[in-house]
Amino acid sequence: MLDKKVVVITTGGTIAMRYDEATKGLVPAVSGQELMDAVPELKTVCDIEVVEFSNIPSPHMTPKLMKDLGDKVDEIALDKTVAGIVITHGTDTVEESSYFLDLYIKTEKPVVFTAAMRGATDISSDGAKNILCAVKVAATEVAISKGVMVVLNESIHSAEDVIKTHTTNVDTFQSPYWGALGYVDSDRVIFKRDRVNRLKIDTVKIDESVYIVKTFTGMNTDIFDFLIDKKVAGVVIEGFGRGNLPPLILDGIKRMIDANIIVVLVSRVIEGRVLDVYSYVGAVKPVKEMGAILGGELTSQKARLKLMLLMGRYSDKKEIEKYFD
Ligand code: ASP
Repeated sequence: MLDKKVVVITTGGTIAMRYDEATKGLVPAVSGQELMDAVPELKTVCDIEVVEFSNIPSPHMTPKLMKDLGDKVDEIALDKTVAGIVITHGTDTVEESSYFLDLYIKTEKPVVFTAAMRGATDISSDGAKNILCAVKVAATEVAISKGVMVVLNESIHSAEDVIKTHTTNVDTFQSPYWGALGYVDSDRVIFKRDRVNRLKIDTVKIDESVYIVKTFTGMNTDIFDFLIDKKVAGVVIEGFGRGNLPPLILDGIKRMIDANIIVVLVSRVIEGRVLDVYSYVGAVKPVKEMGAILGGELTSQKARLKLMLLMGRYSDKKEIEKYFD
């Protein structure tokens, strides 16, 4: 018995999948305890307790499930014997669930998501090593108050920055422009930078009626007409470069704003902020003047989650705007 305990919450993903002869593909098949049994080295780090939350592929994850997961994390973290929490998850949406929890949960204890690019029965499966590294991070005091983290391939990423960059490579998780927070070496956990400006949104509700629209050259207002018709609450628009938009959609954006739909503008470029430096038709300046909120550096999928949480908390657009960028 060691004096620290890490709770591992399992949610599913490739890390808990095996090849299935009948369907000729990977399917959810590994229990939480089996996952831990595959990593005997965990015994040298700390005591482990396993909590099975779900066993789903991560494209099945929803904001509602993320909220339930966050509530479960906060409940577990109240236990004084818990040093930190690891969450196993699918890689496809781990950047979303981890960022949702980063904004939503109250605990300052280390909360570390991990996953695997290869199934439990694949050659050189990466799951066991990733779990070991994640538990090491969750068990270390240095990781307290670093926000929610994602640990794969020995790298520690902040949930705010991390994105999946390759469909198959085990080194898929990167934090473009900012880089990883640190890494896990065989003898210890090493942080090279700190987490600053973490935002927490204290809410008991989320507004799930937030959509993402990616812009493209020559685009017209058809999609926006549909969204206005559907009376959605918010729309995140992924523009070009600094956030600039194709001119034909401006009328659709104006009508959305007039219909009290909150519009947040982000960029399809993976590094840098959107900003009103251009004033030509379709550029950010006039669109901001129309009432669109600038979403800073966030990807559209992360801006959507942030808007859902903020709209659950505030009904005043001015208040919501303060939390972006
Ligand atoms: N499709 C899988 C999932 O996200 C991929 C993975 O876990 O790597 O659940």
